[in-house]
Amino acid sequence: MSAPFDCDVIVWGLGGMGSAAAWRAAAAGARVMGFEQYSPAHDRGSSHGETRIIRKAYFEHPDYVPLLEEAYRLWRELETGLSNPLFHPVGLFLAGPPESEAVQGTLAAGREYQLPLARLTASQARHRFPGFRFDDAFEVVWEQQAGYLEVERCVLAQLDRARSLGADLRFQTPLIGWQADEHGVRVETADGVVRARSLILTAGPWSGPLVPGLTVRRKPVFWFPAPTELRQSRGAGTFFFDLPEGQFYGFPSRDLSGTAAPTFKVAEHSGGEVVNDPAQLDRALQPADLAKMEAFLRKHIPGTRPIPTAHSVCLYTMTIDHHFIIDRHPDHPAVVVGAGFSGHGFKFAPVVGQALAELALREASSLPIGFLGWNRPARRAVAG
Ligand SMILES: Cc1cc2nc3c(=O)[nH]c(=O)nc-3n(C[C@H](O)[C@H](O)[C@H](O)COP(=O)(O)OP(=O)(O)OC[C@H]3O[C@@H](n4cnc5c(N)ncnc54)[C@H](O)[C@@H]3O)c2cc1C
Repeated sequence: MSAPFDCDVIVWGLGGMGSAAAWRAAAAGARVMGFEQYSPAHDRGSSHGETRIIRKAYFEHPDYVPLLEEAYRLWRELETGLSNPLFHPVGLFLAGPPESEAVQGTLAAGREYQLPLARLTASQARHRFPGFRFDDAFEVVWEQQAGYLEVERCVLAQLDRARSLGADLRFQTPLIGWQADEHGVRVETADGVVRARSLILTAGPWSGPLVPGLTVRRKPVFWFPAPTELRQSRGAGTFFFDLPEGQFYGFPSRDLSGTAAPTFKVAEHSGGEVVNDPAQLDRALQPADLAKMEAFLRKHIPGTRPIPTAHSVCLYTMTIDHHFIIDRHPDHPAVVVGAGFSGHGFKFAPVVGQALAELALREASSLPIGFLGWNRPARRAVAG
């Protein structure tokens, strides 16, 4: 690939992670071009549906905690100057059998990083969270620093920041293919060819042909009528149940002004039908989508009528070990990959963007991302 380049970095896909990478690369002074096949903050990928949980005591692996500290700092930086917050620190309770992954992992991460957590028995939890039912054997962990992010507003804010720092962002412009050599990359877009020193691949559920070993899963999300106790204005926070029948999570009713009948959002984190082509996704509600959710609501949130007022369908892009991939492409050093966020990546978006930008612009990232490598042991059989 020969100079002159059109820019320093091309970002492929401007969803949750690509918008963050464009922002952080532009903040580092790079000339950035970003391409997105759909419109800003669209609803066909993985970064839509109003809200995302953010928490620090990370049951998936304690090594994520230092990244979360930096993510919290960057979300606050992104919020500066906005008239409404992006992050709502309403807290989170995790509930389940004491030996469950979420309870055990949250307590372990909390211990390792001395995070403030409160442990409650089932009867204490019933008193504190009156809209919910807890089995006698449950342990409940409360994290006050947790809460939720407004997902589409976060993506739009990252895009705005990138643009205000000089990034050239193009929407409704699919990227068609790329070639790389030791000097740089050549990317074919619907509008012509663009050359750069490096390419950041953040194609979300469309990463499959570019990154081996990913599985895309269909995830329906529901809104149900909110009992009074689930309203944010009454002190309700976010919640996560780790049960033998599955993992379920949800958000308080946001009491948006002018809403006659408040609703709350709830979904299953586990399971999900495999999707072969994200562009052909079935977004209609299927009877099977509701059956498990109804059973969960009847048992643990009995004050709601289990007939959804709305639904949305989103996509998880899973790796084999459910950990992210943030690394340089093993065969193409000019190409950096952020993929496989496995249904828990959004809270990290700005720090992922920072890591991707550093990998694209420097020799290495200063962030502790070694455990998220392309060729880590769990991925060796599939990584190619
Ligand atoms: C229902 C649901 C609930 C979730 N809940 C949480 C949560 O509570 N907390 C949390 O932290 N995370 C959560 N997640 C996970 C999180 O939202 C995702 O990990 C994150 O949004 C992934 O971002 P992404 O940039 O990888 O994908 P996307 O946001 O989908 O971005 C990829 C982009 O690439 C574009 N693209 C692809 N191919 C091309 C091409 N050829 N040319 C141009 N553009 C292209 C796509 O159009 C898309 O915009 C949830 C996910 C879902 C689906």
